Amino acid sequence: MSDGCDNQHRQSELATSLGEVRSRIAGACKAAGRDRGEVTMIAVTKNCPASDVAVLARLGVLDIGESKEQEARGKLAELGPTEPAGTAGTAGPGSVCADLRWHLIGRLQSNKARSVASFAHAVHSVDRLKLVRGLADGAAEREAPLEVFVQVSLDGDPDRGGAMAQDVARLADTIEQRPQLRLRGVMAVPPIGSDPAEGFARLAEVSSRLQVDHPQASAISAGMSADLEHAITHGSTYVRVGTALLGRRRQSFS
Ligand SMILES: *Cc1c(COP(=O)(O)O)cnc(C)c1O
Repeated sequence: MSDGCDNQHRQSELATSLGEVRSRIAGACKAAGRDRGEVTMIAVTKNCPASDVAVLARLGVLDIGESKEQEARGKLAELGPTEPAGTAGTAGPGSVCADLRWHLIGRLQSNKARSVASFAHAVHSVDRLKLVRGLADGAAEREAPLEVFVQVSLDGDPDRGGAMAQDVARLADTIEQRPQLRLRGVMAVPPIGSDPAEGFARLAEVSSRLQVDHPQASAISAGMSADLEHAITHGSTYVRVGTALLGRRRQSFS
């Protein structure tokens, strides 16, 4: 746990990088002739400590992305509203952390689906039917439905995660049959070494096709630190930014 001084330093560091990322997003929206309000930034805090999440929350960033259920749940517990603000020189997250929206963006094992559905705001990586049932069951007690994105494979390699484009409609139909889930749209991660613009263009086509039968599922989760401009050009509404905001990851969780 960092002390007060470290934390002050971290806060100014993150405020600077946040300003840079926000101006990249604004610039890309302008270049694409899009309204800035169409794009939400998710801060990807995987491998970063919970104190970074608290700092981001104080800076007004409430959408937090995590890859792993266990790591997300650990941070949530650390930041939880039950912890009194300012305890023992910690980050003192206080109530602002109660407003955080947790986005699960990494590959999800089906035995973690129920747990994720109990705390996440959204799951971006729904790529198979088996996950739908677990998420819906886990979301049964929620007040608001769990938001879900169908992750689409851009390279057709099932081992890398993502549904094949031709399977998206069936997954979407199954999600729509579950009142505990709310289908938001599609998500993808371009394969390493590929042309991201090409991948995002393909994802936009998948999104258009999905919207024929599911007009409300218009969200597109695409774009990371290196390629968010391309993603915004191709209609992204949620960019997932880690490294450009938080720097190189310094901590590893198992
Ligand atoms: C890690 C991760 C990100 C963030 O990537 P950066 O390059 O650090 O911005 C976005 N999306 C997914 C699915 C990730 O796993």
